[in-house]
Amino acid sequence: MSRSAHPAGPRHADVLPEGHYTAPPADLNSLDPRVWAQTVERTPEGAVAVGGLDVRRLAEEFGTPAYVMDETDFRARCRAWRDAFGPDADVYYAGKAFLSRAVVRWLHEEGLNLDVCSGGELATALDAGMPAERIALHGNNKSDEEIERAVEAGVGRIVLDSFQEIARVAHTAARLGRRQPVQIRVTVGVEAHTHEFIATAHEDQKFGLALAGGGSSSEAGEGPAAEAVRRVLMLDSLELTGIHSHIGSQIFDMAGFEVSARRVVGLLTRIRDEHGVELPEIDLGGGLGIAYTPEDDPREPHEIAKALGDIVTRECEAAGLAVPRLSVEPGRAIAGPTAFTLYEVGTLKELEGLRTYVSVDGGMSDNIRTALYDAEYSVALVSRASAAEPMLSRVVGKHCESGDIVVRDAFLPADLAPGDLLAVPATGAYCRSMASNYNHALRPPVVAVRDGQARTIVRRETEEDLLRLDVG
Ligand SMILES: *Cc1c(COP(=O)(O)O)cnc(C)c1O
Repeated sequence: MSRSAHPAGPRHADVLPEGHYTAPPADLNSLDPRVWAQTVERTPEGAVAVGGLDVRRLAEEFGTPAYVMDETDFRARCRAWRDAFGPDADVYYAGKAFLSRAVVRWLHEEGLNLDVCSGGELATALDAGMPAERIALHGNNKSDEEIERAVEAGVGRIVLDSFQEIARVAHTAARLGRRQPVQIRVTVGVEAHTHEFIATAHEDQKFGLALAGGGSSSEAGEGPAAEAVRRVLMLDSLELTGIHSHIGSQIFDMAGFEVSARRVVGLLTRIRDEHGVELPEIDLGGGLGIAYTPEDDPREPHEIAKALGDIVTRECEAAGLAVPRLSVEPGRAIAGPTAFTLYEVGTLKELEGLRTYVSVDGGMSDNIRTALYDAEYSVALVSRASAAEPMLSRVVGKHCESGDIVVRDAFLPADLAPGDLLAVPATGAYCRSMASNYNHALRPPVVAVRDGQARTIVRRETEEDLLRLDVG
């Protein structure tokens, strides 16, 4: 998607290259509340503060790059989701977005449940005191060990993803003398992303069991999902509580959920008709979008709750089913907007007639999303205000890779100089959790800020950490 460039003003404006940018903002110092965490503000001195703390002080104390997470905002988002869905539904935070012991405690205190999808995430959740019955285990290839630990711990839900797994979980639960609550993950033939969704009869992906059978309509429920239901219902060590569907990521339009809910309810109806059981739960997954740039306009949790609740109620009433307990699994929508990455500018290269490359002290090792998904981010100068004209910029990292781009197209003040601090907002989800040691980069810390206090919740890696694993 190429957007038109502003005709006037910016430096390099004579030949504006192709890019994902719109007009430079009227005021480069302004901070759009859609992309910045709740307590972020520009102070009268011109620098930016979060939780009442000046970013210059945070950079001094914790170094750069660093993820700075607004704990007040994180907790507020948890409560907003919790309150929007109310006592008759459950909100499972998707731990893969970002998980640490502190985050687990925040979720616990704010009344959320937690999705994990690996032994490591399960260990973190249990270690930080999340009650096992509020944990759901996901994954398309859970190991025997992961299954055993989850069943042993007594997790509230294992989401089954294959026929082999049905047998494995049943076997493990039987051996441990448990009856394990499970859901079956189905693929409903909907792939949703941002503003559109594709509804098809068949799913070509690794997750879930298809509703559709070979050649039949996706509504018919003749496929592997119905067969999985049959098998699970025959196993005494498994308690089938519901059906799970997750349709995509960074979704703004609720229409895909509507198709998904209709197809899942279709399966529930079929299960009632065929087996005489009404399953008590339905999980519609996560994937709700956030604003990475001011042009993104995500739905609020209460709108999402109302839309999903209405769809499920309507479909169930039409089918004559009791309305099951709904659960959702937002990851990005909770963690994403709560953090920004703080970088220091190292070098600048002005490419005449093109743009200025601004190199920061991190890059694709702390934010792979731009390189991986062509994700769009915004960026601001945060260590001072500037009255300089806008300069078309590309914020890049320090890695040995020309695709090492953090923000592809952005306007920054033309007086930007080495030593300035930049912040990239909306990096709370899928940045630290996808961070790597590429080029032996040391993964940045996560610093939580709340009411004038800052503390490290995940510390910066050290060279010692790197060398400790290198035992050759
Ligand atoms: C990734 C994932 C989520 C969370 O997705 P977001 O886009 O972060 O909301 C929820 N449920 C399942 C099963 C997932 O795989």
